[in-house]
Amino acid sequence: MKAHDGLYIDGAWRPAGSRDVIEVVNPVDEQVIGHVPAGGALDVDAAVRAARAALPAWAATPAAERAARLTALRDALVARKDEIAETVTAELGAPPEFAQAVHVGLPIAVAGSYAELAAAHSFEEKVGNSTVLHEPVGVVGAITPWNYPLHQIVAKVAPALAAGCTVVLKPAEDTPLTAQLFAEAVHEAGVPAGVFNLVTGLGPVAGQALAEHPGVDLVSFTGSTAVGRQIGAAAGAAVKQVALELGGKSANVILPSADLAKAVNVGVANVMANSGQTCSAWTRMLVHRDRYEEAVELARTAAAKYGDRIGPLVSARQQARVRGYIEKGVAEGARIVAGGPQSPNERGYFVSPTVFADVTPQMTIAQEEIFGPVLAILPYDDEEDALRIANGTVYGLAGAVWAGDASEAAAFARRMDTGQVDINGGRFNPLAPFGGYKQSGVGRELGAHGLAEYLQTKSLQF
Ligand code: NAD
Repeated sequence: MKAHDGLYIDGAWRPAGSRDVIEVVNPVDEQVIGHVPAGGALDVDAAVRAARAALPAWAATPAAERAARLTALRDALVARKDEIAETVTAELGAPPEFAQAVHVGLPIAVAGSYAELAAAHSFEEKVGNSTVLHEPVGVVGAITPWNYPLHQIVAKVAPALAAGCTVVLKPAEDTPLTAQLFAEAVHEAGVPAGVFNLVTGLGPVAGQALAEHPGVDLVSFTGSTAVGRQIGAAAGAAVKQVALELGGKSANVILPSADLAKAVNVGVANVMANSGQTCSAWTRMLVHRDRYEEAVELARTAAAKYGDRIGPLVSARQQARVRGYIEKGVAEGARIVAGGPQSPNERGYFVSPTVFADVTPQMTIAQEEIFGPVLAILPYDDEEDALRIANGTVYGLAGAVWAGDASEAAAFARRMDTGQVDINGGRFNPLAPFGGYKQSGVGRELGAHGLAEYLQTKSLQF
């Protein structure tokens, strides 16, 4: 795999000050496929300085010109879509078809949406005798995870650039090659030097240095709740803005009037996609007690179909973590109906698609984010019980409701403490705000709401 041995700072690939490197490993065969620099605090500082220097000119660039750069960025991603998909497959392990359709297709759509929003957005409004200006927040420190490596970068960088902000990106250490391809696309798109900068590196070193840098005005983080809490605390102490997209334990609520087979099949597919490494996955399936065993049987059959079709987890560490959760589920008394803790392959970080029945709401596997292909099926007695279970975790990122009638499902969805709910399998909308209630996060990404995160207002009274 192609890998740059430098960092993209101020419009060029430059040697890192730090000599440390990160090994990139293919999770399918455990082979090292490349090395990238592990940037240090001095590298982060150089990148933040470049972003600060570029800020006044980029903020003053007409929105139509910023939109034109974003269109060019979308086109550069389209031109490289095969190379990006192959890279995501190599460093994340995503099956090629899924890599093309989702890991590349979705960020291309999001980049295109921000090209259009930048052109159409009104950066000024009238409120009585005031003119309210929507101005860029400033320098953005973006810290992203590995599970949707390009999407999570684009979901921060595209709206930031549309708003007139400049960016320093610290991508996940497991998937830095996709981030390097993104930097190449930004360069090809003619985005001025310093507007976008990339520092690959370790979370507690480069990530922390970026989050704590006084030259950063807004930290946008996606990842674990544990790290998000630290970043939020540091941002609070420095009185700087912060956006956090954290974990989830989303409920898929199947009401008695629903088409059970459809709801279970779509629900299992939702959990197994990307080997379960999706923050918004519906990892808890809630089924009325009367139809519980029927649902468990449907889920067992559905999971068996995924056996050889899902990829590995991203790393040995994630594999160990997920297998640990499966063992814990067994130890706490849940019943395995598909999969289990044993590894299906000798090589690679694979975990079998796993389904647990007889899960109670207090069990660890019903409360904590596992981030693997593991579904917990919980019975409920009536609608109030289903609502209590659905809302009974610290998370609130996504969810689903199924009923015979969409309005019945929507009435239930209104009572859920969560940021997104799909009604009877409603499809993902890249323009709808995405983000969490409770400990799933602060702020929203995507569409106009995502753009607003990168703007601050100034009121002029006349
Ligand atoms: P993580 O939170 O450790 O890493 C996410 C990003 O934060 C990476 O770029 C990492 O380098 C950086 N980071 C780590 N420590 C940091 C620090 N102290 N300061 C600044 N940046 C830091 O997540 P992970 O270890 O890759 O995954 C662990 C768990 O997080 C997963 O099992 C899953 O539960 C959750 N997760 C959630 C999402 C999501 O989309 N919500 C994505 C990935 C992981």
